[in-house]
Amino acid sequence: MVRVKGVQAGSIADELGIVPGTELVSVNGRELADFLDWEFLSADEELAIEARLPGGEAIIYEIERPEGEAMGVELEPPTIRRCANRCEFCFIEGLPKGLRKPLYVRDDDYRLSFAYGNFATLSNLKERDFERILEYRLSPLYVSVHATPWEARKILLNNPRVPNIVEQLTRLADGGIQFHAQMVIVPGLNDGDVLDASLGDLWSFEDAVLSVAVVPVGLTQFSHLYTGKSMDPATANTLLDAVDRWAHRASSERGSAWVYGSDELYLLAGRDLPPTEHYDDFPQIENGVGAVTALRARVRETLHSLPRLDGRRIGVVTGTSMAPLMPDLLEQLAGATGATFDLMVAENSLFGPTTTTAGLLVAADIRRVLADRRDLDVALIPAECINDNGVFLDDEPFEALRESLPMAVYPSYDFADVLTSNEFLPDNLDPIEGAAA
Ligand code: SF4
Repeated sequence: MVRVKGVQAGSIADELGIVPGTELVSVNGRELADFLDWEFLSADEELAIEARLPGGEAIIYEIERPEGEAMGVELEPPTIRRCANRCEFCFIEGLPKGLRKPLYVRDDDYRLSFAYGNFATLSNLKERDFERILEYRLSPLYVSVHATPWEARKILLNNPRVPNIVEQLTRLADGGIQFHAQMVIVPGLNDGDVLDASLGDLWSFEDAVLSVAVVPVGLTQFSHLYTGKSMDPATANTLLDAVDRWAHRASSERGSAWVYGSDELYLLAGRDLPPTEHYDDFPQIENGVGAVTALRARVRETLHSLPRLDGRRIGVVTGTSMAPLMPDLLEQLAGATGATFDLMVAENSLFGPTTTTAGLLVAADIRRVLADRRDLDVALIPAECINDNGVFLDDEPFEALRESLPMAVYPSYDFADVLTSNEFLPDNLDPIEGAAA
């Protein structure tokens, strides 16, 4: 059974009389366990939907659904499948205490992997899950492989009962499922020969493995389980050498790089980030692979569309890892707009200084660098550090931060998203204080 959270006005569900709180029990005689069943089973044209209204009344809706018309039902969120592993490098184990509860949920859910691109290890898959993945063709899946040699993977996931990932992927690939894989590298455990063997195994899946990301282990000052070595520049360089070897082979034999080092790996190694064409269609940009290169390209493409902002002073807040890359971008923005751009680098107070990514900054970090900057007209902050509900990781709402600061503050992904918005049209700008009329 799945429960309805909301109904779109004027939709099929609305016309049928389905209301929030209605329980959807089955479709065409098949019971509904979750949103996947609903999405796939209700895609038929002729439907018999067994439901229970909030008052307890049982009802069967028999309808012919016009092709392409949505049912208009929003379901309550599913119960998340929990992770059965205990990786020493688990980011959730590295969270400080006292944050909001959902942040501590260690999800490992193939359904979210298909629906939202969350990475899953597949180590908690039951027979029924395999059947559903194959029946509904849940493809591509995003899989945390880390290592294909079974013993190495047991150690990495800290789980002696973890299934053999090569067998799992083989069964799914034989059924037509494709994957994006990630390898989080713990020095001494899955670099060197283990990385090479893993990439060899993934390569042998041919077009079932669409891309592989090689990501350095990310730790915070609270990663209390971790007993391994931390990533250093020499190891990052060795990893990138291995990535380059496989990417070179993939480019010549299959026409795409196929395996990519994450941006963080290049920054740690002190190497230049590859150009746009290296990343093909940026298959793992959400995983921090190619995000910097994509940002650089976006800035280049949008410079001509930016308004003149002569005399304005704009603050740009970022984390310590992006700081060395920013001056070049800000210089281009200044040239195109006439504004002065000030870079402000914030350290992460919640996770500690080893956490350098801009997307994990919290409201307190941003306030610390902006509170006294009355000379700024505008501040741009990383949009990635605010969730869909408008809240930072430290639970402070963006609106509260914005109201507490002396300048206009905007979350931004790529500068142009803010600087080309209506507020920055010349007619909508406030006059510069002290400027001649
Ligand atoms: S698989 Fe490992 S890293 Fe992912 S949630 Fe589970 S314990 Fe954490």
